[in-house]
Order: sequence, then structure tokens, then C-alpha cells
Amino acid sequence: MKVVGLTGGIGSGKTTVAHLFESLDVPIYIADIEAKLLMNNSEDIKRELIDLFGENAYLNNELNRPFIADKIFNNKDFLNKMNAIVHPKVGEHFKRWLKQQHSPYVIKEVAIIFEHKQQSQYDLIISVIANKDKRLQRVLNRDESTPEKVLAIMEHQMNDVDKAKLSDFVILNNDKTTLKNQLQKIHQSILKHIENSAI
Ligand code: ATP
Repeated sequence: MKVVGLTGGIGSGKTTVAHLFESLDVPIYIADIEAKLLMNNSEDIKRELIDLFGENAYLNNELNRPFIADKIFNNKDFLNKMNAIVHPKVGEHFKRWLKQQHSPYVIKEVAIIFEHKQQSQYDLIISVIANKDKRLQRVLNRDESTPEKVLAIMEHQMNDVDKAKLSDFVILNNDKTTLKNQLQKIHQSILKHIENSAI
């Protein structure tokens, strides 16, 4: 079973693209969503996050997002420590999930692959790219955020040109009209790649 990484900057359209792969019967794993579920459901993670941030890390047994977001916004050390708690658990969860899939390949959507130098964990990588102003507008329409916050996140992510150079496939998502077409071609190329690598 091949693992295809799907990455891209904030608001590029990774999740939108992931669901289009799902409509081609490709199993998808959205790391962000699984991480959020694990943070609410794993007793190990809960204990470690309370050790790190204090009792206020959870409110009514749910992760206290505004409190954590505030803590990590200006403190990279907190963010790194939180990632060190959550990421390995998501990795283990993904391995268990992968064993249950029956398909030539799966899509794993992860916002940050190149930035963490995790390319080797994937057989192939697709990057979704889109103009910065469109990405900003999409995120502002979707989330209760501010341009400053979104731009600060963009600053910490690799730019699209560098990402494209490191990727096996690039999907341009400035508008939705060509998405399905682009996806279909990539899907066929991946299947061909898998067929050839099995010979
Ligand atoms: P994030 O990294 O913030 O999770 P993402 O890369 O997964 O974002 P999506 O959640 O797929 O991006 O898209 C962000 C928002 O933009 C969503 O509300 C989505 O519906 C919208 N969107 C995605 N692609 C397009 C498009 N081509 N045209 C208009 N809106 C789009």
C-alpha cells in the first residue's frame, strides 16, 4: 500500500482536494482532524497536555482551544512540546488505520511535510498551491481569524515555488473549475506509477 502525502499552505484547498480523492474511492486520512479527535479522546495525550499547560488545557473534558492557541501563539517552545506529544500518537494511529485499508494507495493530508523534513515518510507527494490573496480570503471567510494571524502562519510555511520543486505532483487551486480534471490525471499517474514499481 502506497502512502501519498497531500500538503499545501493554509487555505490552499488540501481538504477540498482530499475529499475529491475520496470520491475516486481513495481512502483519505486528514492528520489535523485525527489529531483533534485524539486530543479529546486519548487519556495519554490529555494527561501530557495538562502536565504541559496546566488544568486549563481542558474545559468540560474538551481541549480548551482558545487557551492553548493563546499559549502557543507567541511561544514556539510550547508549540514544539505540544507537537512532540501529539505527532507520535497521530503517527501510531495512522499506522493502525493504514492496516485496515484496501486500496492501491491512500492519501494522507498533512499541512507540514517539507517544513519538518518528513518527505521520506511518503511514496509520493502532492502539493496544492493557490495565490496568497485567495488563500487569505478563503481562511478569513471560513475562520474567525484576522489577516495578521493568517499571514503569520503563512510566514512559517514554505513558499509554493519551493514546495512545487520538491513535489511529485502539483495541483493549482485558484478556482474549482479545473480541479477534477487535474485530479483525474494525477490519480491515473499514481496508479501507473504503482503498477510500474510492482514490476
Ligand atoms: P487549512 O490548511 O487551513 O486547513 P486547507 O488547505 O485544507 O486549509 P480547505 O479547507 O480545503 O483548505 O479550503 C479552505 C477554504 O476555502 C474552505 O472553506 C473551502 O471550501 C474553500 N475553497 C477551497 N478551494 C476553493 C476554491 N478553488 N475556490 C473557492 N473556495 C475554495
